[in-house]
Amino acid sequence: MHELSVAQSMMAVALENAAANNAKKILRIELVVGNMSGVSVDALRFAFDAVKADTIAGNAALVIQETAAAAHCAACGANFEAGQYDFFCPACGAPVLPKGGDELYVKELEIE
Ligand SMILES: [Zn+2]
Repeated sequence: MHELSVAQSMMAVALENAAANNAKKILRIELVVGNMSGVSVDALRFAFDAVKADTIAGNAALVIQETAAAAHCAACGANFEAGQYDFFCPACGAPVLPKGGDELYVKELEIE
């Protein structure tokens, strides 16, 4: 499962950060996950629960902020949020190239 390795590397970042700040506990972890990142939010939550056990983040709340790719249609000028498989303008049907949505990182930690 891809999400497990993502959760492991994100937890490593969080723990490193907490250690650098002499934290005893991580209370909250906020992640940013884009809809083009290829990561399922549900699977990531599940994986996080597994990797946080027996760490100082054992009781940490996980907050996932989801972002979406944005697309601009050169043909008709429409701007819209694009999903993973949206490659056509919903207004005129012209092909578009969505940008962004590939975010995948630890945004914020609340430590104690
Ligand atoms: Zn269009």
